[in-house]
Amino acid sequence: MGIAAAAIGCLLLGGTAVLTNLNDYQRHSHGAYELERFSALLEAVNAISSERGPANSAMGATDEDAAARRAELAAKRAETDAAVGRMEAVFEGTLVDDECGAARARLHADLANGRQKVDFAANTSFAERDPREIARGILAMFTAADAATTLRDLVSGHIMVETPSLAGELMLANSASTLRDQEGRLGSFVVMALVAPPERDPMYLQRMQATDGIIRSVWSTSVSQADKLLPDPEIADLVKAVQHDFFDGALLLALDAAENHTAYNSLSPAALTADYVPGMRSSELLRTAVVTHSVAAMHRNAENSLKALVSAALLTGGILAVLVIVAVVFRRTLFSPLMRLHDEVLALAGGDHSRPELPQGMAREVGNIFSGLDVLRQNLTEKRVLEEEQRRLNRRLRRLAETDTLTGLLNRRALLSRVGAMFRRADRIGESLAVVLFDIDHFKVVNDTHGHAVGDEVLSGVARLMDGALRTGDTLARIGGEEFVLILRRADDITAYNLLERLRILLCETAVQSKLDLKVTASFGVAMRPAGSAQDWDDIFSLADQRLYMAKGAGRNCIVTEGFSPQTRQRA
Ligand code: GH3
Ligand code: MG
Ligand code: MG
Repeated sequence: MGIAAAAIGCLLLGGTAVLTNLNDYQRHSHGAYELERFSALLEAVNAISSERGPANSAMGATDEDAAARRAELAAKRAETDAAVGRMEAVFEGTLVDDECGAARARLHADLANGRQKVDFAANTSFAERDPREIARGILAMFTAADAATTLRDLVSGHIMVETPSLAGELMLANSASTLRDQEGRLGSFVVMALVAPPERDPMYLQRMQATDGIIRSVWSTSVSQADKLLPDPEIADLVKAVQHDFFDGALLLALDAAENHTAYNSLSPAALTADYVPGMRSSELLRTAVVTHSVAAMHRNAENSLKALVSAALLTGGILAVLVIVAVVFRRTLFSPLMRLHDEVLALAGGDHSRPELPQGMAREVGNIFSGLDVLRQNLTEKRVLEEEQRRLNRRLRRLAETDTLTGLLNRRALLSRVGAMFRRADRIGESLAVVLFDIDHFKVVNDTHGHAVGDEVLSGVARLMDGALRTGDTLARIGGEEFVLILRRADDITAYNLLERLRILLCETAVQSKLDLKVTASFGVAMRPAGSAQDWDDIFSLADQRLYMAKGAGRNCIVTEGFSPQTRQRA
């Protein structure tokens, strides 16, 4: 029972651990998958955002390098289209409906519109190019980037709802992406301020300052803490690099160029771009690294969950195996031998002293109990032998005590001890008994003539002869020297007389001592005891004794009963 309870407990605990880790494994695997998909979306967003650089260059190009700038822009647009295509592919089916579908359609429309505006400005000759057309192109590309950001935020929102554990990584990735996008915008506003007519300066400067605010806010609240969420030296180095390259370098340069430019003394857009763009490089790298490390962390977590799952399963299996082994060993060494012991003790108590084969492999302690049982069995066996011997001796003693040693007949005491039971039995079955007392005639003469030993032989011979002539169920006892008692069952007066007459004749005709060919006679006195008689033994015996005396008086070698006497030789 204990082992079964432990096994169930172990299964429950192990099962819970396995299921929990399986759940974690699935969650982290799914998280990694979602982050990988999301990184494709970020790549597209970033590509659209960074397409502004070559677009601005194409729109700001002189007639001489216009062709080269347009070629660069075409190459960049091909990259953007490829990134957008990859995004479409990984979100295949999940971006087509509801809000996401609409945002995606908007993205395509806004991107086409932005490119159209950019082409319009870029395809105008330098001399005829209106800065407002350039600004329209830039702003239209901002709108396309906004559409991409909207789609990004929508998709990341969906992923967060589905996989809340990814919230931190997604928000950090979004912030890094926003940081990079806003840095680009700030550069664009500065370029616009540099090339715009003086009356439009304040508008671009204002937007530049607003963007600066967004950048610093995104940086301080989120991206600068990236190495806290993703503790990794590469991330930490990149955070430092962004601080150094952008905030302490490119940003200061751009702000300074925008705020201090005059109609006569200003930095050319190309010069600004050449200094500013490399300053955004580390932000770009940080954005990519955040996604890469988040995906790696998810994979690591999934792997750890898988390991924990396997460990939990192995541990549970191991514990179960141990429990099974313990159960088997206990059964073999303890339970089975104890059950066997129980059976053997019961068998021994029931008198079965045989020693069965001992069970194999039982515990030493149980073996000791079996040894103890062996000792007990041996003692009981010896006791049983002794008891048997005792019973045998008792039987022998009783027989000796009840037997007349000379004739082997019952002695007086044995007879007296039985008459009560005989009378009760006769009363129960309604049977009358004849109590006969007979005495050998002139026995003294035998002794006197042949000696005491011959007298003994004569006594034995008489006993043997009479005993052999009796019916089964009749009782013969020697109660004194040459006096005998006969108790005849199922005997009325006549039956008794006839039977005794046969015995009397047999006796006087048979040599009871063969060597000397001695014959003797005997006299018989008979008292009847009818069933239910109130007379006790003494009364009946005394009556039989009187009749024996009468028989002696009547000349011996005769029978006196209630109805017969030697004088009449017939019924009295
Ligand atoms: P009666 O016909 O009147 O019975 O005469 P009796 O001689 O048989 O009777 P009595 O009583 O005078 O003598 C009995 C004798 O039986 C006396 C005694 O020595 C003898 N006797 C008693 N017991 C034994 C015995 O165990 N062995 C032998 N050999 N003789 C015995
Ligand atoms: Mg006698
Ligand atoms: Mg006598």
